Amino acid sequence: MGPPEESSSANVGGTDWRTPAEMANYRTTPDYATTVEYLERIATAYPGKAHIEDFGKTGEGRDLKIVVASKDGLFDPDRIHASGRTILLVQNSIHAGEMDGKDACLALLRDIVQDRDRAKLLENVVLVFIPVYNIDGHERRSAHSRINQNGPELAGWRANATNLNLNRDYMKADAPETRAFLRMFHRWMPDFFVDDHVTDGADFQYDVTFDIDATADVPPPTAKWIRDSVTPELTRRVNAAGHLAFPNTIFLNDDTDPSQGLAFHDNPPRFSTGLMILENRPGLLVELHMLKDYKTRVTGNYEILRSLMEILNESAAALVALNREADLSAANLGSNGKHGEAFPLCLEKSGETSRVEFLGYESTRFPSEVSGAPAVRYSSKPWNTTLPMQTGAKVALSVRPPAGYIIPPQWTSVIDVLAAHGVTFQHLTKEWTGEVERYRCSGMRWPGKPFEGRFPILRAGNVERAIGEFGTCTLTVETVTYRVGSVVVPLSQRLSKIAIHWLEPAAPDSALRWGFFAPIFEQKETGEAYVLEKLAPEELAKNPGLKAEFDRRVRTDPHFASDPTARLEFFYDRSPWWRAQRVGEYPVGRLASLDGLPVS
Ligand SMILES: [Zn+2]
Repeated sequence: MGPPEESSSANVGGTDWRTPAEMANYRTTPDYATTVEYLERIATAYPGKAHIEDFGKTGEGRDLKIVVASKDGLFDPDRIHASGRTILLVQNSIHAGEMDGKDACLALLRDIVQDRDRAKLLENVVLVFIPVYNIDGHERRSAHSRINQNGPELAGWRANATNLNLNRDYMKADAPETRAFLRMFHRWMPDFFVDDHVTDGADFQYDVTFDIDATADVPPPTAKWIRDSVTPELTRRVNAAGHLAFPNTIFLNDDTDPSQGLAFHDNPPRFSTGLMILENRPGLLVELHMLKDYKTRVTGNYEILRSLMEILNESAAALVALNREADLSAANLGSNGKHGEAFPLCLEKSGETSRVEFLGYESTRFPSEVSGAPAVRYSSKPWNTTLPMQTGAKVALSVRPPAGYIIPPQWTSVIDVLAAHGVTFQHLTKEWTGEVERYRCSGMRWPGKPFEGRFPILRAGNVERAIGEFGTCTLTVETVTYRVGSVVVPLSQRLSKIAIHWLEPAAPDSALRWGFFAPIFEQKETGEAYVLEKLAPEELAKNPGLKAEFDRRVRTDPHFASDPTARLEFFYDRSPWWRAQRVGEYPVGRLASLDGLPVS
């Protein structure tokens, strides 16, 4: 399977060019130092085609690196773009126990720089790859990192050195690795992105599964190219190379019963490929199957990357045009004011299914004595069938984009994340008072345990375990004064979708959901009981409506009736002293127009 067993690349000029994994017959994968040493040998031997550069440091201080392969020694991103070639960025080992893509990229780079046939892959494409993204996790090597996975002997750890899952960090950008990635990404501005993983989940015959988002939040021309061209071609070419590909990263509707079919999964921007939707670039998620042996997985990963490079070579000009169009349409999102179209923030399954051919393994569902619940046992006998797959998506949440947002200057961590994403903004040069739309939010409930270092109020159904309850945010039109230094974010920019997703409170990975605005929900003053005991009778005497409401509550709500604090707070919560707290008042304003704002 995959690259020829006795590749002509193995011995060139009397030198053994086998990768460390090939030399170990795929029993092991090299540590970071050995990985870099191999890459440096190639870059030194082929300086006109391969080049390595640093793009930042991990939390533990290791150097993050990209490797660039270019046919003519052109390693400058601006000049590459000017040449009309496309840039493919491949990320490996974000989950550092899943290092198949790293070993595949080492072999692919070698074959490209040494092999005449593979050299064609660089005709219209420049390959940029991150050999290991989560390096600190990669160096935490153990035989017990990946309980689900069939080799290699030692594997790295899923999270980074502060135990953050970097593939949940793309929107909030807490980790130094994420910050470095975003800077590197915008310097290179790739035309196509790949994130290489290994599955967790069901057992089936496919060794290569993959997914490229082409749903309602991807511009229709790009989505059409992905659906009609890239996805079927990747499947065909990987299969032709002797592997078995399925164009969906498989999740089951019922983990214990594959016959219930394949589930829908949305792709919020906390994930790498979810972020790509907001960056207006196609993002390919590759998942090699965890139970296939390491050689099958590495060569399968090699073949999907090779196939993708072939496809990008054939359609380089078309892809550049699609991306330009996607950037322009993003920069237009805020221009239509009240007549603008709703922008989808979140998708969910529509209930529409299609029957797909599926090559699984026969399985038995049995009552488990261990768990006390139904469980599944897979056999090694092929189960070639058709299954229902959730193929329909509908918009679960949308918003009409404003012309721009205005953020008070004190919300520095919120503004800092926008800056890390490269979103363009300006500052008020003097105080400004004007009409804006603002949200009032209430009913939020926070989870009782942390998720990715925070206590987020995430959407249910996002495969996350620590989720709170979002409550509601209602828009009001108000006249508000914003101080000098307030940040004005126009949506007339290619990264408008980042601003919308970060600043619309209900968006699946908004600043509010991740807790950046948590203080606005805190009550800072409370009424002393003896003060409220004086206030309450006065208010009851003055306000018959209030008295009726209080009496009814006492009559109908026994918990309330028997809770002295709640009975006193009833009056506080309806007083001007409560309104002065401004609890739930979301400080970001939605601007209908940016005309006349004093900014620079
Ligand atoms: Zn993974």
